[in-house]
Amino acid sequence: MEQINLHQELKKYFGFNEFKGLQEQVIKSIISNKDTFVIMPTGGGKSLCYQLPALIKEGTAIVVSPLIALMKNQVDAIRNISEHHGVAHVLNSSLNKTQVKQVKEDISSGITKLVYVAPESLTKTEYIEFLKGENISFLAIDEAHCISEWGHDFRPEYRNLKNIIERIGENIPIIGLTATATPKVQEDILKNLRIPNSKTFKDSFNRPNLYYEIRPKTDDVDSDIIKFVKKNSGKSGIIYCLSRKRVEQLSQALQVNGVKAVPYHAGLDAKSRSRHQDMFLMEDIDVVVATIAFGMGIDKPDVRFVVHNDIPKSIESYYQETGRAGRDGGEGHCVAYYNHKDIEKLEKFMSGKPIAEQEIGHALLQDVVAFAESSISRRKYILHYFGEEFDNETGDGGDMDDNIRYPKKKKEAKDDVDL
Ligand code: ADP
Ligand code: MG
Repeated sequence: MEQINLHQELKKYFGFNEFKGLQEQVIKSIISNKDTFVIMPTGGGKSLCYQLPALIKEGTAIVVSPLIALMKNQVDAIRNISEHHGVAHVLNSSLNKTQVKQVKEDISSGITKLVYVAPESLTKTEYIEFLKGENISFLAIDEAHCISEWGHDFRPEYRNLKNIIERIGENIPIIGLTATATPKVQEDILKNLRIPNSKTFKDSFNRPNLYYEIRPKTDDVDSDIIKFVKKNSGKSGIIYCLSRKRVEQLSQALQVNGVKAVPYHAGLDAKSRSRHQDMFLMEDIDVVVATIAFGMGIDKPDVRFVVHNDIPKSIESYYQETGRAGRDGGEGHCVAYYNHKDIEKLEKFMSGKPIAEQEIGHALLQDVVAFAESSISRRKYILHYFGEEFDNETGDGGDMDDNIRYPKKKKEAKDDVDL
């Protein structure tokens, strides 16, 4: 292949002047047809890592992604930067016969550079037989942690992708991308995709602008949360709760206290959910009280705090959920309420599940307990969990947590800190 000026291509397609983090190295690896494994935190710019090579390379890239809504967003965005509507397509069960025919035509004629497929659609013999005859540039597997039972979003269909791609063609390069950095999940991904010699690229997971704080959860948790939110009045925040009931109750308590808050959980109808989400994005309200149903794919850069009314079930979830604060690089205050009784509750929830799942769930919870009860740097703990060494004396954001700022009176440190 002739020498490509990647910066020029970046500018031409996306309008950006510089690559972010490891993007350029990743893209070079993909362009030279190597199996590639990318671990970058959320917001790190993983999509561009496969989109740009797909646009540059001959043939069509197959992109597997777990969420139809996210696929649609990406396809719309790519269509906006290209002359051909057919440059990107989604192939899934929502298409009618005519639409499927159009997608196939565009792929065969070489117009389509990216085709997004849900993992369950890719198992369809019709699609496999069709793709077999086409020029496939590579397979990108977004959210690749879905392969692993140790990840926070296990999808059994993801485990079949390697077999399917082998049926579609020989030596098609595989690109796995994830924001899950735990060594166990990484190992699982590489093993399942059978790409032991892939080039691995890992960005730092440090979020130096986030302040981490764990507070003991007492009977006063309601008034404590209300006090915290009122102190941050006018700022955007998310409060996560384990149950829908608690979401409703807490959002009402906040409303009664004059806070502009709305609930968000899977029990609300789709219309209310999307209305509440829009109100948050448009800043008609300040606070969303939500179950973990809220947040995936939501990109509000100026979320100033994330409160956990209940401690999450893994460090991974804690990191992902707190990670929605301060994406613009500004202040992000993360407060989680912890009580060992909540851990017992979470253990109980799991008791009906298969043994293997229970064991994994238990191990993940033990790490949460250790994290919550530990007196070492929160950031050091989190980064170590992700296989990254961090020195809180010298590292970015090293003093941005309760344990470092208030080492002695940690247990009774209930007042808000001044940032
Ligand atoms: P991830 O999938 O890693 O969470 P995304 O691919 O959604 O991240 O990208 C996050 C944001 O970063 C997007 O708004 C994207 O437009 C932006 N972005 C990606 N690459 C660059 C770049 N080189 N320069 C500036 N912004 C970028
Ligand atoms: Mg992504």
